[in-house]
Amino acid sequence: MKLFVFPGVIEQRILSIGARQIPYMRTAAFSALVKECEALLLKQVGCRSGSVLFYTASGTAAMDAVVANYVSTKTRTLVVAGGSFGYRWRELCQYYRVPCETFEVPFAREIDYAALEQKITEFKPEVLLCQHHETSSGQLYDMGRISQLCRQTGTVLVSDIISSFLADPFHMDDLGVDIAVLSSQKGLNLPPGLSFVVLSERVLKEKFAHLNFYLDIEENLKNLTRGQTPYSPATTLFLQLHARLLQIDAEGTASIIEKVRKNALFFREQCRRNGWPVPAENPSNCITGFQVRTDGYKIFGELLKEEIYIMPGSINNYLRVAHLGMQGPDDLALLADKIKQLDQ
Ligand SMILES: *Cc1c(COP(=O)(O)O)cnc(C)c1O
Repeated sequence: MKLFVFPGVIEQRILSIGARQIPYMRTAAFSALVKECEALLLKQVGCRSGSVLFYTASGTAAMDAVVANYVSTKTRTLVVAGGSFGYRWRELCQYYRVPCETFEVPFAREIDYAALEQKITEFKPEVLLCQHHETSSGQLYDMGRISQLCRQTGTVLVSDIISSFLADPFHMDDLGVDIAVLSSQKGLNLPPGLSFVVLSERVLKEKFAHLNFYLDIEENLKNLTRGQTPYSPATTLFLQLHARLLQIDAEGTASIIEKVRKNALFFREQCRRNGWPVPAENPSNCITGFQVRTDGYKIFGELLKEEIYIMPGSINNYLRVAHLGMQGPDDLALLADKIKQLDQ
């Protein structure tokens, strides 16, 4: 099986943890493991002092928690939407009846930062919701520039780093991001089922709302002080997370990102040789989104028959290949070759 999706090919060492018996979790040992996961995650996202909320749910739950229990306390929210994940922020706001305005960014284009500055200066949002990498198009946004604009108006910056974490450099404190959301099956390359909200000290001092019971921020923070979650955690996933975070700590995030970047650049070179345009103006290392000549869904379907998984895109003749899992130039060269044979 070849996986160029989320997650990608997972290391055997991590997978085998999933085959073991599951220890009871209301113990001091499990609490210590959760606290260590928190410390490692804070270090790896570059948050010197803050807290990490752990949810047994996919990444959207982390976004949901932020909107239901934090953004809902505000009256002026700005959503930056450049694709389906940006619009998900808006859908969440609409779902919880949180008033928001949307700054739209065309598909695969860079943000017009001058226009965004004007919008922020006029609207003075209390909170801005955005993605670091809009996974539907492959476009990476400049968090430093967004943060600079937010600082002028004291706007709290919430960044969805679900698909940029461990693919593109990110440092929460240096970039001035106040809340970051991430999940297990993208950069961490773990099975799906865990998501995280990183809250900076600035936000921890604020008041939270209580519009989502399971995801309630205050209740989760209270339990976290003793290294626990209020409800049954996906224990196995926590054990896999812990092993993975230790591994990342030993290797260093820069070295992991460099490997992902090399794979991305290698595959983009194959795209160039085959005449497949990559529409993203400033592509993330996480995925390569590219246009083929024939029906993308047909290519996707043919590859499935050989247990090769890539992602069909939201627009015609558009395919996405993820670079986060275990992969190398040989795998990517073979993939490009197969797609080339099917693309006629
Ligand atoms: C994957 C992803 C999510 C979360 O989607 P789930 O289906 O809940 O895992 C959110 N934002 C971005 C940018 C993503 O890539």
